[in-house]
Amino acid sequence: MRVSQSEAGGRDNPPPSPRRWSRRWALWVLLVALLAGLLSTLVWLAGRYESSRVQSRLEQDATQTATDIRAALTRNIQGLQALQAGSPTPDAWRISAAEMLRERREIVRMEWRDAALETLAHVETPYRTSVFERLGRASSQTDVALACAAARRLSGPAYSSSYFQPQSDGLGLEVMDMCLPVLTAGQLAGHLVATYSLPDILSELVGKQLARDQGVAFTEADGTRLAMYGTPSRGSRAYVAQHLLDLPGNTMVIRLESRLGTPDLFPNLLTALVTAMSMALVAVLILLGRDMRRRLKVEHDLADALAFRKAMEDSLVTGMRARDLQGRVTYVNPAFCQMVGLEARELLQHSMPPPYWPPEQAQEYQQRQASRLAVGATLPREGFESVFMRRDGTRFPVLIIEAPLINAVGKQTGWMSAILDVSEQRRIEELSRASQDRLQATARLATVGEMASLLSHELNQPLAAISSYATGSLNLLQSAASDAQPLPHGEDLQVAMRRIAEQAERAGKVIKSVHDFVRRRDQVREPIAPRALLDAVMPLVSLQARKLGVRVLMHVDETCGPVLCDRTMVEQVLLNLARNGMQAMQGAAQPAEKVLTLRVRQAASNAQSRWVEFAVIDQGEGIAEKVAAQLFTPFFTTKAEGMGLGLSLCRTVIEQHGGFLGFEAAQPRGTIFTFTLPVAATATALPPDTAALS
Ligand code: ADP
Repeated sequence: MRVSQSEAGGRDNPPPSPRRWSRRWALWVLLVALLAGLLSTLVWLAGRYESSRVQSRLEQDATQTATDIRAALTRNIQGLQALQAGSPTPDAWRISAAEMLRERREIVRMEWRDAALETLAHVETPYRTSVFERLGRASSQTDVALACAAARRLSGPAYSSSYFQPQSDGLGLEVMDMCLPVLTAGQLAGHLVATYSLPDILSELVGKQLARDQGVAFTEADGTRLAMYGTPSRGSRAYVAQHLLDLPGNTMVIRLESRLGTPDLFPNLLTALVTAMSMALVAVLILLGRDMRRRLKVEHDLADALAFRKAMEDSLVTGMRARDLQGRVTYVNPAFCQMVGLEARELLQHSMPPPYWPPEQAQEYQQRQASRLAVGATLPREGFESVFMRRDGTRFPVLIIEAPLINAVGKQTGWMSAILDVSEQRRIEELSRASQDRLQATARLATVGEMASLLSHELNQPLAAISSYATGSLNLLQSAASDAQPLPHGEDLQVAMRRIAEQAERAGKVIKSVHDFVRRRDQVREPIAPRALLDAVMPLVSLQARKLGVRVLMHVDETCGPVLCDRTMVEQVLLNLARNGMQAMQGAAQPAEKVLTLRVRQAASNAQSRWVEFAVIDQGEGIAEKVAAQLFTPFFTTKAEGMGLGLSLCRTVIEQHGGFLGFEAAQPRGTIFTFTLPVAATATALPPDTAALS
C-alpha cells in the first residue's frame, strides 16, 4: 500500500535525528572501505598470482634452455667424434670439420691436436674473422691445456672456463674451449678442441625460442655477465630466472629475463575476472543503496500511514472491534473501551464469553454468533441491535454492523464490527413517543374544550330563565308577604328562591369562566381573602359531605393576606380537590369517622413574592405509586364514572396563576393535595402575564 503525502493529510516526514544520520553514514563508509579493501586485496592477489605464474614459466624456460644447450653441446660432441671416424688425414679432417663449422655457427674454431696438444689441423668458422686474430691462439693455450687435462682425467669431453678475446673491430668475444680426448685402442691419440662463442651459443641454440620480451644471458656465479642475447623491452617489472649450466670443467649460470609491459590493465583472465566482479559488486552495492533508500522511504510512508490510521481510529466515536473466527476479541479501539468501560488489555485477554455480554443473554449471543459464523462472508451489512453491559453492570442498547475481515491473501480471518451506542437515540425516541401521546391527549382536550364551550352557550339560556323565574317568584312572594294573608312557609320559600337565584347565577358564572378558560380569554383576577374562597365552596362541599357521611373541618390562618386569583376557577379547583378527597374515603376499609380538612396557611416566601398555601387533606386509601405516575395525565381515572380531567385542569389553573399543585401522603393514612396562590399585594406589583407564566 502506498500512501501519498496528500492522502496522509499533508504531514511532513520528521527529519531523522543527527545521531541516526551519522550512524548510517558511518556504516556506509565502513561498508565501502571494506569493499574497497577487499577489491584491492583481490586485485593484488590476482597480480601476485599472475607474476608468480610468469616467474614459474620463466623458471621452466630457464631449465628448458639449459637442457637445450646441453643437448646441442652433446650433439656437437658426437659430431666431433664422427670426424675422427676412419682415422682421417689432417686434410680430410679439415674438409669435414669445415663442413661441420658451416652447420654449427656457435663453434668458431676446431682444432685437431695430438696427445701433446700440438695442433695438427684447425679450421675457422666461415662466418667471422678468426677470434684469435689479435692475441693469437697461444694466449689461450693454458685454458686449452687445463680443459684437455680435465678431459683426459674424465676420459670424456671437458670445458674450459670462458675467457675474453678482444676483436679487431674493437669489440670482444667471450669464448670457451671444449676438449675431447681422441682414444685409439684405449690409448690417447690426440685431442679435438672446439672453441665456442658464448654469444653465438645463445643466439643459435636458444635465441629462436625466445619471446620478444625475453632476454637470455650467461653469467658467472657472482653475477658477472659473460654474454647475452635479446634485450627485454622496458617494462615496469622485470622477472629473472636463473639456472645452472653445469658442464664438465665449467659451470655457468643461465639467466633468463622477462619484462611485463607497462601497465597492463588486464594482465590475464583472472585479473580481468576479478575486476569485472569488483565492478559488478560496486554496481550491486549502488543498487542496494538505492533500494535501501526506496525501502526507507516506503517505511516512512508506512509509519505515517499507520500513525494517520491510529489517529483516525482514536478519534472515532464509533466503537470498533475485531474478532477471530472463534469469536475471541483481537482488537478494540478506544471508543469501544470507553463504551463498555473496560481496558483494551482486559478485553483482549478475556476468554469466551466476553465481559461485555450480559450474563443472562450470553447463551443467546453464543448461538447468534455461531449462526453468523455459519453464514460466512455473505453476512448482510444492515446491522442488528443488541444489548451490551458496562463494567458497572448497566445494560445499554447497541447497533452492530459486521463485515468479514479478509487478510492479504484473501482468506477470512475473522470479523470487524462497528458498534454504535444507541441509548441516547432510544431515549429521544421514548421522549418523542411521550410527547406524541401528550399531543393526542391535548387534541382530545381541545375537542372537550370545544364541547364545553358549546355546552356553556347552550346552558346559559336555561340558567338565565331559571334565574329570572326565581327572581319573579321572589318578587311575588315578597308582594304576598306584604298582603294581609301571607303564604304558609312564605319566608322559607323566599330563602329557597333566593338560593335558587344565587346558584343559577353561580352556575352561569362557572359556565362563563369555563368558556373563558377554554377560549383562553383574559381571566379576571381580583384580590380575595382565602376564607372567602372557602366560604364560597362550603355550601356545595357540605351538601356532598352530608351525602357521603364526611365531616368537613376548616383551619384558616387569618393572618394570610388576600390572594390574587380568578375566583371562580380557584373555587372549582377547591371543589374538585374536596370532592376527590371525599370520594377517596368511600372504600370498604375506611375509618368510622371520615374527616376532610381544608387548611389555609402561609407558604414559603421569597424577596419578590409571598404565597398562601391551600391544602385539602383526606383519610382515604392514599395514592398508589402506579396511579401517582399518571395522576395529572388527562383522561386518567380509576373511577367507573370519572372523566379523568379534574386534576389535569386543576394543575393548569394553578400553574396559570403562577402557583404549584402537588400532593403527598398523609399520616397515618390519606393524601394531602396542596396548591399555592400569590398574595395580592406582591402579585399586583407584577404584570398579570408574568405572574401567569412564571
Ligand atoms: P376523576 O375524579 O374524574 O377520576 P381526576 O383527575 O380528578 O379525575 O382524578 C384522577 C384520579 O386520581 C382519580 O380517578 C383517583 O384515582 C385519583 N385521585 C384523585 N384524588 C385522590 C385522592 N384524594 N385520594 C386518592 N386518589 C385520588
